[in-house]
Amino acid sequence: ITSRISDRSLLRSDAFVDGEWVGAENGARFPVHDPGTGELLAEVPRFGRTETARAVDAARRALPGWRRRTAIDRSGILRRWAELIRSHVDDLATVLTAEQGKPFPEARGEVLYSAAFLDWFAEEGRRVYGDVIPSHSPTERILVWKQSVGVVAGITPWNLPAAMITRKAAPALAAGCALVLKPAEQTPLTALALAELGRRAGVPPGVLNIVTGSAQDAPEIGRELTGNPVVRKLSFTGSTEVGRLLMRQCADGIKKVSLELGGNAAFVVFDDADPELAVEGIFSAKYRNAGQICTAANRILVQEGIRERFTEALLRRTEAVRVGTGFTEGVEMGPLIDGPGLDKVQRHVADLVDRGGRVLTGGRPHELGGTFFQPTVVDGLSDESLAWREETFGPVAAIRSFGTEEEAIALANDSEYGLVAYLYGHNLGQIWRTAEAIETGMIAVNTGRVSGEQAPFGGIKQSGIGREGSKYGLDEWLELKYVNLAGL
Ligand code: ADP
Repeated sequence: ITSRISDRSLLRSDAFVDGEWVGAENGARFPVHDPGTGELLAEVPRFGRTETARAVDAARRALPGWRRRTAIDRSGILRRWAELIRSHVDDLATVLTAEQGKPFPEARGEVLYSAAFLDWFAEEGRRVYGDVIPSHSPTERILVWKQSVGVVAGITPWNLPAAMITRKAAPALAAGCALVLKPAEQTPLTALALAELGRRAGVPPGVLNIVTGSAQDAPEIGRELTGNPVVRKLSFTGSTEVGRLLMRQCADGIKKVSLELGGNAAFVVFDDADPELAVEGIFSAKYRNAGQICTAANRILVQEGIRERFTEALLRRTEAVRVGTGFTEGVEMGPLIDGPGLDKVQRHVADLVDRGGRVLTGGRPHELGGTFFQPTVVDGLSDESLAWREETFGPVAAIRSFGTEEEAIALANDSEYGLVAYLYGHNLGQIWRTAEAIETGMIAVNTGRVSGEQAPFGGIKQSGIGREGSKYGLDEWLELKYVNLAGL
């Protein structure tokens, strides 16, 4: 990728601790590959407990100075960071596409989205107001302060390698926390490039640290981040399984946790929906990032009266999806992230077919080879199937029909997850009732997108704890302190 990048100093292959680029103590490294071509992109340090502890210590030393700075001072640094991201958008998108595989224009969009979190929290950080509460006594005053949580840790996934970094770093730093962040092993290069720009923007040494490790190292790094008493909070985005493990590990030290975990979104199309609009929504909620997003429409529920028209429109759109490597002009969908990702999608499709599903298009690995998979529509989504219970994380649109509103609600709620649901239709009463009854943290009505820096992103049930983005997102990184001032 070196030839595609204009500012080569953004290509970092060392971890970032205390403002320095560093390797592992024993020099060990692991490879990062382009999932579209298999090309080796870089070899990045394999951190263990010792190196991670050192990063935590750097954050501990940096904390008092960062906390003492004024909000406007921190805000200025975050703004400069956002501006630097925007002025390097093409280079960052190149790194992102190379290590993650999504089409370059989509990567560009994600990079700009990652800058938006910095802008947003640069502003919100200036509005961390306390309270004065009317007192029970004439000689006492009740005050409420908001203070930064302190040293915090973040662990992020590979599907949004830029946005997931700033969605944690922006509020953490705006609140006055010092952060140790572990990006996913598949996509550390985007995180390191962002850290380089953060450094240039004036983020002081130790305030933002990026620790890297392979899949094998992740448990060790995780044990240090959750076991080290200096760390006061963990914010994790990833699978429910790993989230559960990390939450358990955080229990010993009673650390705060924020968890953005798996989803299993229902996508409900009522009879009075606009089928073309719903299909565009599916494109965004299903084929974007090759279906590898936690908000992906995993269970498409279509009312009987619109089923045929909707399915036809969906088939047409699905067959038109252009698949290829991320740098190919006009491509809409890239490869899956890796072999295990591909295996899971194949397993889900085979299981759907075993349980009576009919593949209407796709259903197999793509002719391009590697980890490419065909955009797929399966009719007949059994509630016994794997795809009903867990997210497929691939480009498989699985459909099931329903009769009544009550049935749609019951089906949508038949999941351990509760991240998002999509509703299509124009009967306001029906949409309102359904939106109230569905158990998720987010509802999208007549749109396939919910994410935005202004809005509270997050789930209920086993989809997580806490919210990211929005004015609420800052609270996750703040503690309340109540002060009773007596003797006046
Ligand atoms: P995904 O299915 O998206 O790969 P994971 O939950 O496996 O989701 O990974 C999300 C992040 O969690 C990655 O950064 C990964 O390295 C990290 N991770 C995986 N297992 C552990 C673990 N046992 N402890 C700490 N981090 C982990």
